[in-house]
Amino acid sequence: MILDGKALSIKLKAQLKQRIDHASIKPGLAVILVGDNPASHVYVNHKVKACSEVGIHSERYHLPAAVKPEDLKKLIDDLNLNPKIHGILVQLPLPVHLNTQAVLDWVDPKKDADAIGTFRMGQLLIGNQQIAPCTPSGIIALLEQNDFPVRGKHVVVIGRSTIVGKPMAQLLEQKNATVTLCHSKTENLKEYTQTADIVIVAVGKKHLLGKEDFSHRSIVVDVGMHRLDDGKLCGDVRTDEIKGFVKAYTPVPGGVGPLTIAYLLQNTYVLSQEQR
Ligand code: NAP
Repeated sequence: MILDGKALSIKLKAQLKQRIDHASIKPGLAVILVGDNPASHVYVNHKVKACSEVGIHSERYHLPAAVKPEDLKKLIDDLNLNPKIHGILVQLPLPVHLNTQAVLDWVDPKKDADAIGTFRMGQLLIGNQQIAPCTPSGIIALLEQNDFPVRGKHVVVIGRSTIVGKPMAQLLEQKNATVTLCHSKTENLKEYTQTADIVIVAVGKKHLLGKEDFSHRSIVVDVGMHRLDDGKLCGDVRTDEIKGFVKAYTPVPGGVGPLTIAYLLQNTYVLSQEQR
């Protein structure tokens, strides 16, 4: 079975558009891109386009890779005070001379659309969040919509980044899953993945896992996103090998990616309602 993230994202965006059409204020999102990472350009374009589809006002800011930290901070300070902007997203990765978590924490928590600043992450940790990081939120929605509730299941998350792995583990634990968080130092990774009910792969290494890592009962969610030499996209999993072998899997493209964007829009709407 294919877990179709694209179809679910279309449904979520249609529902959100209806709510925005009836809202008393137009939500606004600012997207900040620093440098010229080609993949980041593509992601930012998709995010800005998706805003216009659902009626969110969007502003895009492109700063040079060598931007001075104080100039980036000035932009974020201004956006924090801009009443037309309810959500601010800083596209990652940032150039190495910038301290990523410090930059994320310059965003007012009220406007933290990706919910990965220290304040929002703290709320998530204590289970008191109004919004959660976009990719993990999308993955929970995808599993639930396909009648794969995580309650009582053993879920293996591979990768412990602030943006995906860690918040993913938190959300799953809140939904009463039993969670194992694996990473580059995990020994015998296969022992965990082969026996899990659900495996969420967020490593960032193309085609790392294949048939030998899973079982017939595996549900596999592939967060990885890589562009091949021929221009096509692929994930961290060798999808061709697991088709027809595992119980369900997400394709790349068309799996997790569209849901990340849908939840960015959703978070921006929630923030606009909070600030109303
Ligand atoms: P990241 O910050 O680089 O984190 C990668 C994680 O994978 C780290 O925790 C690392 O362990 C672990 N890891 C590395 N090699 C491993 C191995 N051989 N076995 C087990 N674990 C290993 O990456 P990220 O930001 O989470 O992104 C991961 C992937 O998801 C990337 O391809 C990214 O492009 C993609 N992504 C997609 C979306 C989407 O919407 N589809 C959204 C976000 C990210 P250590 O902590 O020990 O180093």
